[in-house]
Amino acid sequence: MLSALLVDRIDAILPQTQCGKCGYPGCRPYAMAIAAGEADINRCPPGGEEGIRELADLLGVTFKPFGADVVLKPPAVAFIDENLCIGCTLCQQACPVDAISGASKLMHTIIVQLCTGCELCVAPCPVDCISMLPQKLPTRDKKHGFANAARERYQFRLERIERDKREKAERLAQKEQAAAKPVAAPQTDAQALIQAALERAKAQAAAVKPQNTEHLTPAQQAQIAEIEARRAKAKK
Ligand code: SF4
Ligand code: SF4
Ligand code: SF4
Repeated sequence: MLSALLVDRIDAILPQTQCGKCGYPGCRPYAMAIAAGEADINRCPPGGEEGIRELADLLGVTFKPFGADVVLKPPAVAFIDENLCIGCTLCQQACPVDAISGASKLMHTIIVQLCTGCELCVAPCPVDCISMLPQKLPTRDKKHGFANAARERYQFRLERIERDKREKAERLAQKEQAAAKPVAAPQTDAQALIQAALERAKAQAAAVKPQNTEHLTPAQQAQIAEIEARRAKAKK
């Protein structure tokens, strides 16, 4: 079983750039692979040779230089040409440490102090307006402080993504549940009310008698009686 303490100590040495260049999806998965004896200590370009030495010291193994396949680059931070940005948010979605500010259809900008230089925002940009600018190498103390802050932001982002996924799934389940409900039965109460109103109207109409007929001539009264009889017959 993996020692969590060992994983923590390896992870503390890694630079928390979260770039994936080691072949693992973040620094902690790489730390776990090293602790499990599944990965070499020389797979992290942002950590440099200094990082390999620290890992070798911690694990009591021999220093191993980077392989020929590892591309080493000077430290850099991302820069967005704000005149070209179309606000598609793709870079923001790719940034593992929430170092890009902006909103949909609005200009985006890099929060330089938070950028780890992982380059993950560069490829997704559809208008190619992100470039990497060289950055001064931080001192050893600053490097560790920066790495700790980057780890926190990375973990916070992972939690947020998980929570968003969960909430989306819940909303979807609620929608499906609502759609699966049988169509409501006809409103029998309402129907009964309408029926009663119709009956009342019918009864009232039937009860209506010709008014002021006492001054009419017998011929006129006979005419009205005939009309009433015809009307009564038509209603049946
Ligand atoms: S900084 Fe990049 S290469 Fe180094 S361990 Fe973290 S994810 Fe891997
Ligand atoms: S802004 Fe770009 S380079 Fe900087 S941390 Fe975010 S994704 Fe990486
Ligand atoms: S990916 Fe490029 S265009 Fe899209 S928001 Fe980021 S910088 Fe702007």
